Amino acid sequence: SVPLSFFGGIGAASRHGILVKGSNFLEVLTRVTTVAFDKTGTLTQGHFTVNKISPQVPLSSHQLLGIAAAAEQHSNHPIARSITSAFTADLSHFQVHDITETAGHGIKAVVDGQQIIVGNAKTMAENQVTMPAAHAACTTVYVAINQQFAGSIEVADQPKPDSKGAIRTLNQLDIAQTVLLTGDNQAVANQISCELGLSTVKADLLPTQKVTEMEKLTHSAHQTNHRVAFVGDGINDTPVLARADVGIAMGGLGADAAIEAADVVIMDDKPSKVATIIQIAKATKRIVW
Ligand code: ADP
Ligand code: MG
Repeated sequence: SVPLSFFGGIGAASRHGILVKGSNFLEVLTRVTTVAFDKTGTLTQGHFTVNKISPQVPLSSHQLLGIAAAAEQHSNHPIARSITSAFTADLSHFQVHDITETAGHGIKAVVDGQQIIVGNAKTMAENQVTMPAAHAACTTVYVAINQQFAGSIEVADQPKPDSKGAIRTLNQLDIAQTVLLTGDNQAVANQISCELGLSTVKADLLPTQKVTEMEKLTHSAHQTNHRVAFVGDGINDTPVLARADVGIAMGGLGADAAIEAADVVIMDDKPSKVATIIQIAKATKRIVW
């Protein structure tokens, strides 16, 4: 049974713009020692800008961006939206069909009769697209035309203003481990976790691999009767939200599936509210015992 004053904790949470879907989650939160985070839209703003366009000859930058945008206009991924809005010309003259998007990979489409693939290095490798050897230091989107490498587009996102303070506060609350689980590349993952002070980084993860990592984290925490929280924005990570001991979703972006899969919803998307809800849970527990 749930002690009565955990209900007071739910009220306190809601006054901070945090929706807790049951008092039992406050009890679980008092035992959390590992907090795992998604990157894009969770620790970062989820608004990418296109910084660099590198076409293969004979394509121009405008042509490469246009082909990528023609395919990406059919995706809701934040990277896709940045590419589509960077292309300022009219997209309606492209004939686009046979669109398939794969979570954590990218998008394929037939554009003006040519097979276009827009996605990460993993996607290119899986489609036998040979790429020039390069070590990406930024979030890089690759483009292939009829399975030939056609160029790359670098995009970048910024951390949310309170992400760094959020991690610092968690460290002060005896959260032993803060983990980044991302589908982005290792260099970008290392850079952001270094900047924000996270303790562990797992990069290049497909959505299913994020679930496997979450299972490993919960398995090891449970051996000492501790618990694991996951914080995500619902784009490609609802299965992880569901699998964590406490799934915490960013609610402001309007990802309905995330709000449904989560146990706790942060209405204003601020990562600092993760520490707030743990503090409320612990304070409520002190009143109970
Ligand atoms: P994160 O774990 O950072 O939240 P996602 O799982 O949403 O990221 O995406 C992981 C990676 O998959 C991206 O960094 C990008 O390389 C690639 N990707 C996914 N969807 C697209 C798309 N529509 N266009 C291009 N790249 C994509
Ligand atoms: Mg995300």
